[in-house]
Amino acid sequence: MDFQQFVLANEPAIRLGFFLGTFAAIALWEVLAPRRALLVSKAYRWASNIGLVVLNTVIIRLLFPLAAVGLAAFCAENGWGLLNHFQAPFWIAAPLAVIAMDFVIWLQHVMVHAVPALWRLHRVHHADLDYDVTTGARFHPIEIILSMLIKFATIVVLGPPVVAVVIFEVLLNATSMFNHGNIRLPAALDRVLRWIVVTPDMHRVHHSIEDDEANSNFGFNLSWWDRLFGTYRDQPRGGHAGMTIGIRDFTDPREVDRLDGMLWLPFRGEIKDYAINRRNYSGEQPK
Ligand SMILES: [Zn+2]
Ligand SMILES: [Zn+2]
Repeated sequence: MDFQQFVLANEPAIRLGFFLGTFAAIALWEVLAPRRALLVSKAYRWASNIGLVVLNTVIIRLLFPLAAVGLAAFCAENGWGLLNHFQAPFWIAAPLAVIAMDFVIWLQHVMVHAVPALWRLHRVHHADLDYDVTTGARFHPIEIILSMLIKFATIVVLGPPVVAVVIFEVLLNATSMFNHGNIRLPAALDRVLRWIVVTPDMHRVHHSIEDDEANSNFGFNLSWWDRLFGTYRDQPRGGHAGMTIGIRDFTDPREVDRLDGMLWLPFRGEIKDYAINRRNYSGEQPK
């Protein structure tokens, strides 16, 4: 059995192992060196957020038994996708594929903020009143299905190596838990890490209740895209301890931090000024 076959055969176990390991490490870090005091009881939020993760996992397994790695293997066998078509060597194809898939995730994240109907779904991620390791996995099932379809389309067009897809999924999962961590990092380390990856302090800005702060730092993994496209914001105005996490109009824990409330959230209320395309007109004319 070669390496690729081994990875394909054991993909669920590999992902679960990395998920549990990273989760335990960040959860412990949150106890030892927390960044902010939590507002809502941890047991209450964790039961809901982890409940949503379990629900999403079951839905995805039922709807997409093939999984992303299975599709990547199918594309490789049939020569589908750019990297397969040009028979790019593994050492070029793998890093290129991981970087390209991360860019697609960034674009998708901007899109779910820009399109009001999609922002309704993505609000579930932002409505969390606290910010910790479980926030990183809290997404509405319909957004998870949409992400999966976009990932499938990306794989068909790109033709990434199977191993690169596993590396990407494990990496995204781990960095998402890391950068949603309610953890304290030495400022100098944060600054250095930020040149490559999204740190907890960088992504926390994106969870601010303030529109301009929420519409920045869309990256989940590499920090380059926000710097390149001008959506990078260094720190929240109110500071990390003082800033308010969440979305306006939904601040009742029974509405936003309970599983039924989260599932129902996209279908409630109006989308007012939160979408990225609703800016106040200043009234100034170009001179
Ligand atoms: Zn977002
Ligand atoms: Zn987030």
